[in-house]
Amino acid sequence: MHATFPLLKETDFPGINRSDLTAIQVNLGYRCNQQCLHCHVNAGPNRKEEMNAKTISQLKDYLLCADASTLDLTGGAPELNPNFRELVCYAKSIGMHVIDRCNLTVLEEPGQEGLAEFLAEQGVEITASLPCYLEENVNAQRGKEVYAKSIRVLQKLNSLGYGDLHNDDESKTGNANNGLILNLMFNPQGPVLPPPQQQLEADYRQYLAEHFGITFNQLFTLTNMPIKRFGSTLISKGGFEGYMSLLRDSFKEENAHQLMCRNTISIDWQGYVYDCDFNQLLDMPLVDQGGSSLHIRNLINTNLQDRPVMVADHCYGCTAGQGSSCGGALNT
Ligand code: SF4
Ligand code: SF4
Repeated sequence: MHATFPLLKETDFPGINRSDLTAIQVNLGYRCNQQCLHCHVNAGPNRKEEMNAKTISQLKDYLLCADASTLDLTGGAPELNPNFRELVCYAKSIGMHVIDRCNLTVLEEPGQEGLAEFLAEQGVEITASLPCYLEENVNAQRGKEVYAKSIRVLQKLNSLGYGDLHNDDESKTGNANNGLILNLMFNPQGPVLPPPQQQLEADYRQYLAEHFGITFNQLFTLTNMPIKRFGSTLISKGGFEGYMSLLRDSFKEENAHQLMCRNTISIDWQGYVYDCDFNQLLDMPLVDQGGSSLHIRNLINTNLQDRPVMVADHCYGCTAGQGSSCGGALNT
């Protein structure tokens, strides 16, 4: 794979500073029941990297004293970490909102019986990858039968109360926050910006309702970052510079004020801390005063407020067009 960081590190991206910390995104490991072609972390069934019990214990110590209100769990398939359910229960017990970045099919894996019910009981928000509403495109990107499984799982989640736009019945959902939230995530197949989020959401909503009776809360569109496998493919095909020009030329100042790195941190499976998931993939950790990578065990005594974010040219992926973040477009 071609390294993209050497092409990105010299940057004129405007400096930004951190604000209040509201969300902590944690990568629980690279094991996944799928092995998608586009996967940023090369996750798959044979990956062994996973956050261990000691690091999870250090994470819990930090969650207890941090001001952040949201714990955002990702991977691989975060549910495959043996400590997943315990961590979710802990975060909920201290009043945090929990998001599970779920590939959907993991809910049908052997050993994951009762997972959907567990997520519903705990009131966990689910953000699920569904890169298209058409079967052919999903299976091409994510593997044979992934679409059929994803549809079955979405129907099951709907039956548990997820994604019901009109459901605010706490007795049914166990969640006072206007029902159980089910969001879907889209990213383009090639080197183009995502289409307008609202229009695409309407298309997804209509197709999934008409064909499968499925409902969901929101569709999030995500811009492809010129890093890892996607960036490497661009380099191989001679499209890297063209895609970077597209991102730069589409810069929108208003998006720079809403970037997720201003109020989120990202923790890798070993416990090291980054401004965002993308910086984690580029191996751009936050550093302590001695210049060493900052670890979650030392974060309690570290003030992140107003700290400059570590930026590089990939950041133009977050500010292009309608903007992009783990919560979808910034400016719709
Ligand atoms: S489901 Fe997600 S984490 Fe798993 S291989 Fe696919 S892209 Fe990677
Ligand atoms: S990639 Fe995006 S979220 Fe990450 S530091 Fe750059 S602007 Fe912020």
